[in-house]
Amino acid sequence: MNSAKYFNLLLLGGTAEAYDLADRLCPFDHLNIITSLAGRTKHPKHPSGYIRIGGFGGIAGLEQYLNHNKVNLVIDATHPFATQIQLHIKIATQKLHIPLIRYQRQAWQASLADQWIIVDDYQAAAEQLILHKFKRVFLTIGSKNLKPFSNLKNVFFLVRVVNMPDNYAEIPNNFHFLCAKGPFQRQQEIDLLQTNKIDVIVSKNSGGIYTFAKIEAARSLHLPVVMVRSPDNDQLHLFQTTTTLDGVLDWVKKQITILIKKSI
Ligand code: NAP
Repeated sequence: MNSAKYFNLLLLGGTAEAYDLADRLCPFDHLNIITSLAGRTKHPKHPSGYIRIGGFGGIAGLEQYLNHNKVNLVIDATHPFATQIQLHIKIATQKLHIPLIRYQRQAWQASLADQWIIVDDYQAAAEQLILHKFKRVFLTIGSKNLKPFSNLKNVFFLVRVVNMPDNYAEIPNNFHFLCAKGPFQRQQEIDLLQTNKIDVIVSKNSGGIYTFAKIEAARSLHLPVVMVRSPDNDQLHLFQTTTTLDGVLDWVKKQITILIKKSI
């Protein structure tokens, strides 16, 4: 894949922003873009450029991949809650001296019109549902972390997921799944909440624009949101980080100039 003055850029994806970045980076001269997806989504959209799918096999596997594929630059545009891969790529690129930038969405901020109950994790979110005696919950935290909610037998859960969980058969029948992929519109979310007589939303504070419509809908309907705080990434200050896609593109341009100079 690599030829003279062509550099390989690994883009860790799984987010809408990573697709946008691939689109915007592909026209750049001197670059091969390889988007990496974990493989959680059954039929993912194909990004611009190359694609690879599946875990690397921990830090060692990641190092091997970076070496074997002569990766020159890495962009981490994974979801704010994907903390394991963020740590792995940081360690692997540091060891191999490969430049890395993290695109980090800004977390959502509550406005005065919002009624957020902010919690640290999913267990605490489940406890808040019991404490406030909520009865009809719109659960939008993905399909991996349903266990803390599984003891709430008298609660109706509308669970929105991209793909049905593998252990679907074991999940209590008060969990009703809705398979859908954003972005969603505010009015669409209002209709969904009203049709299902939802009295609370449980959400991760994922930030970004793509799933914000449910928060706007809750605001319009004066519904509370149990909001799981974005992971405190203590390591983040060690990353070169930007909160804008333009910031990533500027960084890439600078890195290409450096790589070209080094290769002359
Ligand atoms: P995670 O907990 O940080 O990572 C778990 C493992 O999945 C990693 O150790 C790695 O396996 C593999 N992995 C994760 N992202 C990968 C990628 N882009 N390419 C190749 N392997 C990857 O991640 P997660 O929370 O399960 O998220 C998985 C993917 O879904 C990420 O790409 C993320 O951007 C996307 N996503 C996550 C969320 C969320 O709420 N967590 C929401 C929307 C999208 P190995 O150790 O084998 O390398």
